[in-house]
Amino acid sequence: MAHLPSLSDLSGSIFFNGALARSANGRTHEVTNPADGTVLCACGWGDAADAIGAILNSHHAFADWRNMLPAKRSRLLSTIGNNLRNRADEFARILTLEQGKPLREAKAEVHYAAEYFDWFAGECRRAYGDIVQSDSPDRRILVCREPIGVTAAITPWNFPVAMLARKAAAALAAGCTMVSKPAPETPLSAILLAWICCESGLPAGVLNVIPGDAEEISGAFFDSDFVRKVTFTGSTAVGKLLIGQSANKVKRLTLELGGNAPFILLKDANLALATEHAVFAKYRNCGQACVAANRFLVHSNLIGNFSEAFVEASKMLRVGSGLNAETDLGPLITDAAVLKVREIVADAISQGAKQILGPDPGEINARFVPPIILTGITPAMRLWKEEVFGPVAGISEFDDSSDIIGLANDTPHGLAAYVFGDNSNELLRISEALHFGMVGLNDAKIMGVQAPFGGIKESGYGREGSKYGLDDYTNLKYLSVHSG
Ligand code: NAP
Repeated sequence: MAHLPSLSDLSGSIFFNGALARSANGRTHEVTNPADGTVLCACGWGDAADAIGAILNSHHAFADWRNMLPAKRSRLLSTIGNNLRNRADEFARILTLEQGKPLREAKAEVHYAAEYFDWFAGECRRAYGDIVQSDSPDRRILVCREPIGVTAAITPWNFPVAMLARKAAAALAAGCTMVSKPAPETPLSAILLAWICCESGLPAGVLNVIPGDAEEISGAFFDSDFVRKVTFTGSTAVGKLLIGQSANKVKRLTLELGGNAPFILLKDANLALATEHAVFAKYRNCGQACVAANRFLVHSNLIGNFSEAFVEASKMLRVGSGLNAETDLGPLITDAAVLKVREIVADAISQGAKQILGPDPGEINARFVPPIILTGITPAMRLWKEEVFGPVAGISEFDDSSDIIGLANDTPHGLAAYVFGDNSNELLRISEALHFGMVGLNDAKIMGVQAPFGGIKESGYGREGSKYGLDDYTNLKYLSVHSG
């Protein structure tokens, strides 16, 4: 097994035509470690010309890739999954260095990415069509699936391996090729993923990775006649811009956008279970997850006990460099993220929220932010309205007469929601009334390759993973066969 590219191998690199390559423009971009600000390396920094080159390269690769027998594509995807697992330890180290998350979480992310390749290795062979009953005796109706063509992926920094794997595994399984633009904070993980794919036998050009200027590269995606679909994971604000850009050439889009998850404790919720899941839902990746619990809506019967238990559990978490084996919370990704957390906490306090854990807002200055818990949050506060993307939990109390569904749905977002309680009829009734694409019932650990991941409302559209995951990368073609 060849050694995984080191930071110095990645210096100056983009990933083009099956190998580490350099942009003709010679530009580079410094990738820093959010834990200490040190420069890890300067990767290549592509421009529109690189994006156009990669699109053409992926267009040429598409002809053979789409015609490869599904059984062969399937074996190749399985090999990628296995190689990701084999390399999880060394890969996770680079992921932690550029993203900051604890090594344990980084390894879990690489394994999660591998599972998408396993899953779509299977789905690849199940791209079924239909034979439909015709109204005419001399006509048959066949419906088949065809790969869309060249696809483009724009991905964020918070789960840089898994977000790209979730898109690429589905696209490749469907017979599409892909050009990816990773986030500037975490380009190395995307390049390494593509490198492992090609090491596993993926033909050159099937997956290219071009870090670089977002607007230039995305402009090239939307202008190209070869790119037939853009898949984006990121903020709702950017997602809305891309919807506008997609109009000109009527590009298909998948949009996995921001969330604002309510975490509801009904009066008969199991406190220990809810607390354990609350810690997971709030602090994984230091709160920097689209499905992170944002608003804790707690029945008045439980408010005291839950707040106390949550504070105690949160105090146990260790904050520090992701490379330390004991670390639970790594650094926030940028200074801007720290500032946003500070402002959101200050806003809540200025409007009457009570801080029951964590530093004063004025002391939130460094990338390492410990858990912060506030009670008495209201719909007027930024903490209620915005995705915090940090280790801040806002708790609000409701009683039997409150409209808990109305409170939970009081957001333009509709990604994930969680509800804890003991009465299964009540849980189902509430989950049916929640306007979210994913609802955890006594469960906040909702990630799984088998399940359709995605949102509604301003959290986007399209689904990733699951048996529906190929839909976003295939066109249905209807054949009307006259047999008279
Ligand atoms: P972001 O600012 O929207 O950036 C995401 C990606 O879009 C980056 O690669 C970014 O590159 C690029 N981008 C930014 N402006 C662009 C433009 N005008 N045209 C084309 N591309 C552009 O989001 P983020 O802050 O990195 O990520 C956090 C957000 O992602 C949160 O809202 C989170 O909820 C969401 N998210 C959603 C899911 C999901 O599955 N629903 C999963 C993970 C994260 P540059 O930074 O170079 O501009």
